[in-house]
Amino acid sequence: MKFAENSTQSAEYLRQAIPLMVKYNIPPNPLNYALWYTYVSNRVPNLNYKIDQTLDTYGTCPTLLGEQLFREHVISDEITDSEEAQNQIIALTNTLNTQVDHAAKHTSDFGCVLENSLKDLNESENDKEITSIINRLAENTASITESTNLFQKQIADAQAEIASLKEELQKTKQDARVDPLTGLFNRRVFDSELDQIIGSPKHAEATLIMIDIDNFKKFNDEYGHLMGDKVLQYFGKLLKTECQKPILPVRFGGEEFAILMIGQHQEAAHNLAENLRKKIQAIRIKQKRSGKVISSITASFGISHRLHNEDAEQMIERADKALYLAKSSGRNRVQIA
Ligand code: GH3
Ligand code: MG
Ligand code: MG
Repeated sequence: MKFAENSTQSAEYLRQAIPLMVKYNIPPNPLNYALWYTYVSNRVPNLNYKIDQTLDTYGTCPTLLGEQLFREHVISDEITDSEEAQNQIIALTNTLNTQVDHAAKHTSDFGCVLENSLKDLNESENDKEITSIINRLAENTASITESTNLFQKQIADAQAEIASLKEELQKTKQDARVDPLTGLFNRRVFDSELDQIIGSPKHAEATLIMIDIDNFKKFNDEYGHLMGDKVLQYFGKLLKTECQKPILPVRFGGEEFAILMIGQHQEAAHNLAENLRKKIQAIRIKQKRSGKVISSITASFGISHRLHNEDAEQMIERADKALYLAKSSGRNRVQIA
């Protein structure tokens, strides 16, 4: 997206954007400045429509949603351009490499032909001058082959470097906010999303589900830590599939997970938790080593629905208490605070 306004117009947009960001408790970072600048400039009506809808639902624009809107509406052209450029560079070096490969082959073929001719000439003890000319030609050809090979190696190195840069870029996209084992967002994301909701001027409906795998220590002792990790990975996949945006599932830590539901009611949370509880109970994992089928995985759930003026800590504490109650009354159950 190009920002072509003159400085008076830009200053005016910024003057309008900042009070809005303050009003809706939007963290003041460069991404949000650009997002809200675009919003007040009204140049992407679809973006404005989506932001209005988001504000209506949450009373703020949650960070993850804001980032998504920014990518989709403010810099979508740049993302496409940059990906296209990367692909073009890779295609270019690929073509170049093939061409150089051919050239090298031709040059070395040519070298062989010359060498053979030289041999023939030597054998026939022909004119000395011709022999020396051809000798020189052969030397030159050898050096051409050498420099072509060197060039080819440089291209191959550049290619490898581009590929690794692309991989790095991909990795940084999956930044420090993602838990590497489960692929879910981590506690940091959860805390900042929850804080933003709590800090919004409008009382937003929010429900929290805390999940803790039952007797997981025993599970690790019995089947090994690697098998335990597999269960956690499976949990990650299950939560991702069952929690559609904007429902936010995270790995809270260890064998604990949390789900943040903004703008939704307690009943929806209860249904989601019950559904997950049943799906977890139905997990069957085959242990490769022994062929044994493990069928004893369960989890307990604690739910808290945000009370008026309640802060994040209080909400988490109530969900934790409910979870504790679910554990003490037999595990594998959902308890509402
Ligand atoms: P409860 O039903 O009361 O929750 O019992 P529990 O055994 O699940 O709870 P406890 O807090 O005693 O033990 C948690 C276990 O979770 C211990 C720890 O080894 C395991 N755990 C935590 N993180 C990981 C992990 O990343 N991988 C594996 N395999 N195990 C983990
Ligand atoms: Mg625990
Ligand atoms: Mg546990």
